[in-house]
Amino acid sequence: MRKIAADFVHTVSGPTRSATVVVLDDQHVIREIAPISQYDSASVEYCPGHLMPGFVNAHCHLELSFMKGQIPERTGLIEFVQQVVAIRDNFSAEEQEAAIVAAEEEMLQGGIVAVGDISNDTRSFFQKAKGQLRYHTFVEVFDLGPAMTEASKKTGQDVLDAIPHVPGHTASLTPHAPYSCTPELFRWISAYNQERGLLGMSIHNQEQPDENQLFLDKTGDWLQFIKHMQLDYSWFVPSGKSSLQTYLDYLHPAQGWLFIHNTFTTPEDIAAAHKAGQQVYWGFCPNANLYIEDRLPDYVKFLQAGAQCVVGTDSLASNHQLSIWSELQTIRQHAPDIPFTTLLPWATLNGAACLGFQDTLGSLEVGKQPGLIWVPAKESDPLLSTVAPHRLA
Ligand SMILES: [Zn+2]
Repeated sequence: MRKIAADFVHTVSGPTRSATVVVLDDQHVIREIAPISQYDSASVEYCPGHLMPGFVNAHCHLELSFMKGQIPERTGLIEFVQQVVAIRDNFSAEEQEAAIVAAEEEMLQGGIVAVGDISNDTRSFFQKAKGQLRYHTFVEVFDLGPAMTEASKKTGQDVLDAIPHVPGHTASLTPHAPYSCTPELFRWISAYNQERGLLGMSIHNQEQPDENQLFLDKTGDWLQFIKHMQLDYSWFVPSGKSSLQTYLDYLHPAQGWLFIHNTFTTPEDIAAAHKAGQQVYWGFCPNANLYIEDRLPDYVKFLQAGAQCVVGTDSLASNHQLSIWSELQTIRQHAPDIPFTTLLPWATLNGAACLGFQDTLGSLEVGKQPGLIWVPAKESDPLLSTVAPHRLA
């Protein structure tokens, strides 16, 4: 048993408590949360500052870790995607594996306990099989047109079948993005997950301004990109609506929906998604947004709509680190009026719920095994401090 006390104990599921002890057993399961006065002070480890549960990284691409530092910043998404495609196979298997091992270790050290991770293929599975971090793998597919739809379905199923069996780990299929998937593929994935009771989808959404333009009237930079790639896009019919409001019709309402980025999502889009879906989550990766587009979503708009928000790092192709704390600090810098106690659930309990891991993760509650993070900050808002989080359990 360890008894750990701090000035601020952020349970997340309940109020922040002061002068409180968290009692952990040898498996790091929480056995009690009680006032410090109930314990002999000699038996308590006092940690000045803040205690909170381990972080959930709701969006990552572990398999792209070898791209760290390879792609220039602020090129815009279209140039970024071209770069990813161009260098995706430029590195040896050994180089890629070493980068994946190091990236996971960075997440563990930084207090991350679970990850919603995108896999287009099996290259990260050797690491996931070790069971050091809890993963929900979103097996991501795209078809770019009807000619590739059947092949994409097969690839997705093959990758899903190859997921290593680790207790607590889960997986589902997901479409990559609205511009890269046909309505047929969207609908097939949605039905596939639903029939098998799989979690749901994580879709890259409205990351770049011209995505909406493509769906409104089939103009803009995405069309130029598609022509440049010499893809047949004659099948694509603009809906006259935003991208999100178009593909909502293709999704099963009972599936969990996780929309990633949302930089150009309007209040009307948010309302439409909330009306159509039963479990809607909005994922933000601010450091990647600054890296690629140099634009951030308007977080307050989401809060005003009662949105369930989560936080991700995206991949090392578009980030200098895989740190949820750093993502929170970026949000703090750009949205200083959002209180820490509003932001912390984005990085913990909401992320755990979004991935289906709230049974054990996301909050400090008796019976959970959520990890325990200590931020030795004097400030009542620890995001204003420069000290790094320490992982205690
Ligand atoms: Zn991503």
